[in-house]
Amino acid sequence: MSTKYVYYFGGTSSDGRSDMKNLLGGKGANLAEMCNIGLPVPAGFTITTEVCTYFYDNNRQYPEALRAQIEEALKKTEDEMGAKFGDPENPLLVSCRSGARVSMPGMMDTVLNIGLNEQTLKGLIKKTGNERFAWDSYRRFVQMYGDVVLGMKPQTKEDEDPFELLLHKMKKKKGVHLDNELDTDDLKKLVKQFKKAVLDRTGKDFPDDPMEQMLEAVGAVFQSWGNDRAVVYRRQYNYPHTWGTAANICSMVFGNMGDDCATGVAFTRDPATGEKVFYGEYLINAQGEDVVAGIRTPNKIAELKIAMPEVYQQLDDIRNKLEKHYRDVQDIEFTVQKGKLWMLQTRNGKRTGFAGVRFAVDMVHEGLISKEEAISAGRIPPDDLNQLLQPIFDPEAKRKAVEEGRLLATGINAGPGAATGKIKFYADDAEAYVNSFSRDANGKLPEDAQVVLVRQETSPEDIRGMQVATGILTAFGGASSHAALVSRQMGKVCIVGCGDLKIDYKKRTVTAGGKTLKEGDWIAIDGFSGEVMEGKVATKPSEVVQVLISKTMKPEESKVYQQFAELMSWADDVRKLKVRTNADQPDQAAAAIAFGAEGIGLCRTEHMFFDHILPMREMILSSNTEQRKAALEKLLEFQRSDFAGIFRAMKGKPVTIRTLDPPLHEFLPTLDQKDKQKEVAKMIGVSPKSIEKRIKELHELNPMLGFRGCRLGNVFPEITEMQARAIIEAACDVAKEGIAVEPEIMIPLVGFLPELKAQVKLVHAIAEKVFAEKGTRVKYLVGTMIELPRACVAAAEIATEAEFFSFGTNDLTQTTLGISRDDYGSFIRHYIENDLVKKDPFQVIDFDGVGALMKLGVEKGRSVKHDLKIGICGEHGGEPDSVKFCHRLGLNYVSCSPFRVPIARLAAAQAVLEEKNKK
Ligand code: PEP
Ligand code: MG
Repeated sequence: MSTKYVYYFGGTSSDGRSDMKNLLGGKGANLAEMCNIGLPVPAGFTITTEVCTYFYDNNRQYPEALRAQIEEALKKTEDEMGAKFGDPENPLLVSCRSGARVSMPGMMDTVLNIGLNEQTLKGLIKKTGNERFAWDSYRRFVQMYGDVVLGMKPQTKEDEDPFELLLHKMKKKKGVHLDNELDTDDLKKLVKQFKKAVLDRTGKDFPDDPMEQMLEAVGAVFQSWGNDRAVVYRRQYNYPHTWGTAANICSMVFGNMGDDCATGVAFTRDPATGEKVFYGEYLINAQGEDVVAGIRTPNKIAELKIAMPEVYQQLDDIRNKLEKHYRDVQDIEFTVQKGKLWMLQTRNGKRTGFAGVRFAVDMVHEGLISKEEAISAGRIPPDDLNQLLQPIFDPEAKRKAVEEGRLLATGINAGPGAATGKIKFYADDAEAYVNSFSRDANGKLPEDAQVVLVRQETSPEDIRGMQVATGILTAFGGASSHAALVSRQMGKVCIVGCGDLKIDYKKRTVTAGGKTLKEGDWIAIDGFSGEVMEGKVATKPSEVVQVLISKTMKPEESKVYQQFAELMSWADDVRKLKVRTNADQPDQAAAAIAFGAEGIGLCRTEHMFFDHILPMREMILSSNTEQRKAALEKLLEFQRSDFAGIFRAMKGKPVTIRTLDPPLHEFLPTLDQKDKQKEVAKMIGVSPKSIEKRIKELHELNPMLGFRGCRLGNVFPEITEMQARAIIEAACDVAKEGIAVEPEIMIPLVGFLPELKAQVKLVHAIAEKVFAEKGTRVKYLVGTMIELPRACVAAAEIATEAEFFSFGTNDLTQTTLGISRDDYGSFIRHYIENDLVKKDPFQVIDFDGVGALMKLGVEKGRSVKHDLKIGICGEHGGEPDSVKFCHRLGLNYVSCSPFRVPIARLAAAQAVLEEKNKK
């Protein structure tokens, strides 16, 4: 038998089923399924996605067997609907609708009213007794067919739709505003004008043959799979271009034949809040597109109960039946033709993060789904939890801002959330400005104190300014640049690599999108999408954060929090990966614990030094070991108390502290900052010249590959000694207070075994000394970061000295790919948009390259120590797909910024379920 290309649906039985989405597309599979469960669906048939791929592979031709199969299915459709396609007396009209295996709303094309010509039009008039309606249908058909099939749709913003132009002229001539104010004669004239426009543009008459119309429409729908919008959409969601779309030929039913007709769209529950209410809208005497077009204001679905009580009751029954059948919230389209209800579509409803959580939790309580189903990725993509954690823009306010032309530029979305604030270009200005305001009784600052720090890039020196800012926006840098990772750790909204920003520090202005904003002007940044907007955009705070972090709300006051907490507990029951956090301050640690962190996976000690920058600079500027030791002595005190604070906050949970990593020049002014150099010289009591000399000595052409990581601790062992002492002393002190401690000392950027060996030896020697001095001991580990390709390859040797591994995938990505983590913003969008890379490799692990090295590192490391503890602390540790990959690699934990902890917990649980389902 030849391949089956066409699947009939109609009456109470169909060729297809809902689990045939790959072949029939979501729409086709669900139309078939709705028939199977006895719902009223206008009969029709689905032309499979295989025909679409054949069409693309064979120079836009259809397979031979297709035509006969279409004719057979069309016959069945005609029998079911009691009308005939192309029949002048009793014509059947059809639509041709796209439908891929996943829904791609609005991305592809549709043609309605296929089968109309001068003859069938007469039949339609006779059948409906409504001449205006018939001519309006014909007018709409010629326009849609011309746009979609004959390619007359405007291609650029400047082009005008020839049909819209004619329509506009006609309305002007008649002195009316709305399409439905035109009379039959006007419509007749319009059809004539439209057809002439087609002839002028294409050199061919508008096709009258219904079968030709149908086959050409199918081709156009297939063609729309390859249009720009659809390609961009697939890229964003990582859907393969090879899937293809199905084309659905559906009998037309009309909601615009009179006042006993209607059309509407609805969700079985509220897709914004998740509330269990029938949610949607309808219009009496209208076509589907009128509901979405916004020309007439639709009525709320509840009002249908009064307007058409019987239909409403039937629809409400269908709502319940569909939810029970699909066990998920459905998004439906329906039409009422002369009092009879028809279902045109059902699919799983798109939902906000809030609704996703509420649907899932409520449905478990209703006994509709299991807890495991509730936490599955299909229901809650982990990143959607961001909406419950971060402030978000009021969607309406944001839409308005974009409409008003206030969108200035788009960068890399590095820290989710929404921030509106006044522009500040310097961290210290931001700090001084915010600190000039006082807090109210609830500890809140006034709106005017909100600041967005706008910089070319940030450096560790900017930390305090970043801390007071609501949002951070940089022109350079990528997803693991300093600005990105520090913002994320602080839970700040952040956009980086926004190359269209032209910042003039001298004039204190930023120019983008043809507009120049000054310091103090309002700017709004969307860390979910990377969009930068001029002016204020209203934001909504997160209830979960109010309950867990700021404690301005009680758990019992927030339903959103309660549902979030319940869902997270289900995820925790399932997951195997532990989730730690990257934090270097007690408050960050406390926030992360509130979000469910089980330890600290990375404490970057250098961030602490910025609070004590003076002795740090003294240390760097010392000309001999004695001087250096004296400066380190001062730092020791600060470090000890910082570590003690963290140990106390973590209450016995493991804390991984990394020894100094960044190159020393990062702690000094730059060569061109003469004033700052003078300032530092004065504070330290040396000459400005000597500062300049030292800066020149420390200058590096390629800082990320220079004098940093364990190279510092090996050349200046006294630095590691001081840090080891601070950690062990703090651990002993806190242990004496009766608080359990579990320190893990981590050596960065190790490539060669001897580098690690020397540092380990040094740490143990100091630890023994401290134990002797304190007369007590604590347990501690010494391990290493694996963040160089060589470390992965040589992991077996390195494991002989390391008590644990932690993958530093930020550096491992940049060293494996040879792409600087700070300088890739200028080309990464081009790369993604042109499919040169699938995803930003600094956000999602490059599984085939970096991931393969990680796998090697795990295998080699565990070949020496089979139970070696291995984690990840690069920024990927909070990205859902990367977390799942880490689960598959068999890591013990992931570590991420505090606000990503819940996301990682959910992703880790989904990884277990996905593995189980595969087996
Ligand atoms: C890393 O390289 O992945 C890492 C965590 O270290 P840092 O980002 O501080 O270089
Ligand atoms: Mg690193």
